[in-house]
Amino acid sequence: MQSHLPEGARTRTKAIHAGEEPDPTTRASAPNIVMSTTFSVDEPRGFSALDQEADSGFFYTRWGNPTVRQLEMKLAALEGAEDCRAYASGMAAISALMLNRLSAGDRLVMSDVAYPGTTELAYHTLPRLGIEVTPVDMSDLGQVEAALQRPAKLVWVESPANPIMRLTDIAAVAELAHGAGAEIAVDSTFATPVATRPLELGADYVVHSLTKYIGGHGDALGGAVLSDRARLEQLQLEATVHFGGVISPFNAWLIMRGAATLPVRMAAHEAGALAVAEALEEHPKVRRVLYPGLASHPQHDLARRQMANFSGMIAFQVDDGPAVAERMMKQLQVIHYAVSLGHHRSLIYWLGTNDLIASSFHLEGEAEERYRSYAGDGVFRLSVGLEDPEDIIEDLDRVL
Ligand SMILES: *Cc1c(COP(=O)(O)O)cnc(C)c1O
Repeated sequence: MQSHLPEGARTRTKAIHAGEEPDPTTRASAPNIVMSTTFSVDEPRGFSALDQEADSGFFYTRWGNPTVRQLEMKLAALEGAEDCRAYASGMAAISALMLNRLSAGDRLVMSDVAYPGTTELAYHTLPRLGIEVTPVDMSDLGQVEAALQRPAKLVWVESPANPIMRLTDIAAVAELAHGAGAEIAVDSTFATPVATRPLELGADYVVHSLTKYIGGHGDALGGAVLSDRARLEQLQLEATVHFGGVISPFNAWLIMRGAATLPVRMAAHEAGALAVAEALEEHPKVRRVLYPGLASHPQHDLARRQMANFSGMIAFQVDDGPAVAERMMKQLQVIHYAVSLGHHRSLIYWLGTNDLIASSFHLEGEAEERYRSYAGDGVFRLSVGLEDPEDIIEDLDRVL
C-alpha cells in the first residue's frame, strides 16, 4: 500500500502514482476496488473502535478501507500534508471537522462569504450547540484582528470564496489566528492543491469538496480533511468512526482516477478560464468580470502571490441576470445550466444577491455593501470546463 515514489517526485508524477502501486498478488497496474465492508480477523481483537490500535490493519470499512486509504494517501501527497481523512461529501468533511473541534462555549470566526452549506451549518446548527459564530470579511485583516481580540477556537477561511472569488491572505490570517491561540482551517476547494497549499502557508487544516476539481467529472461526491497525523487522529474516532460520514470505496476509486489528472486538467481549466474571462470583459452586455487571473480582480496581486494556477471559476454580472438565466436554461448548447463546479463539462448558475443574503449569508450594513460591491444584484458563477474555450465563448454569446 505504501507508494515508493522517488524522493522529490513532482506534482504530475505524484498525482498519478502516489497512494498506488501494482497489486502484489495479480500485478494489476490499476488500483482494485475493495468494496468489502468487513475484514477477516486472524488474532484476538476487541469489538469497540476504542480498542483498536492505529496500525492494526483493516477491520470494518467505516473505520478504514484499503481503497479509501489509497485515495487519502494520494491527496496527502498532492497537498503536502502528513495525512488525510476522506468523507462522503465536502459537507461531511466540513461538519466532521467543525463538530470535532468545537464544543459548547467555543467561538468560531469565519468568512462571511463562503459555500452556502458551510454558512448555513455555522449559522443554523452551531449556535444550537452553544457555539458562538462571528462572521468577518476575511479579505480585511483589520476585521480579522478585531474579531480575534476575544478568545476563538477556530478560524474558517475559504479562498477563493464562493461565489464572488474574494481571496484571503492565508499566511497573514494564519499568523493572526495562531497569535490569538486559535487553529485555522481553509476550504481550498476552488483553488485545489495545484493552485495553493494552505498548510505550507501556516494553516492547520485544509478541507476539500472532492466532488469538484479533484474528482473532476461530476460523477462522485466526496470530501477530505488534510492535516498532520496528530490532529487527524483526534478526528478519527469521533468524526470518522462515530459520526460515520465515510466515503464509499467506489466513489473513492472514481475520485482517485480523477485526481490522477488534476494537474493537467487544472492547467487546461486555467487557460480556458482566462480566455473566457477576457472575452467576457470585452463583451458589451457584461458589466463586470471577477477572475483572479485578470488584472482587474481587486486582489490580483494576492492571487499572483498565493495561487500557482488561477483555477477555472469566473463570476460575472450582466443587466437583468434572471432574464439571461432563463435564456441560458433554454438555449445553451455546450454549457450546462446547473449547480456544482470543477467538472470537465462547463457549468453555469445564476446566484441572485437578495436570495443568497436572505437564505445563507445574512449580511447587513457594511458587510452587505462589501458583498454588493463585488456581486451587484447577482452574479453568474461559471465553471469553465475542458471544452474548447472558443465554443464556450460562442455559447455565451448566443444567450447574452
Ligand atoms: C461544493 C462545495 C462544498 C460542499 O461539497 P459537497 O461535496 O457538495 O458536500 C464545500 N465548499 C465549497 C467551496 C464547495 O464548492
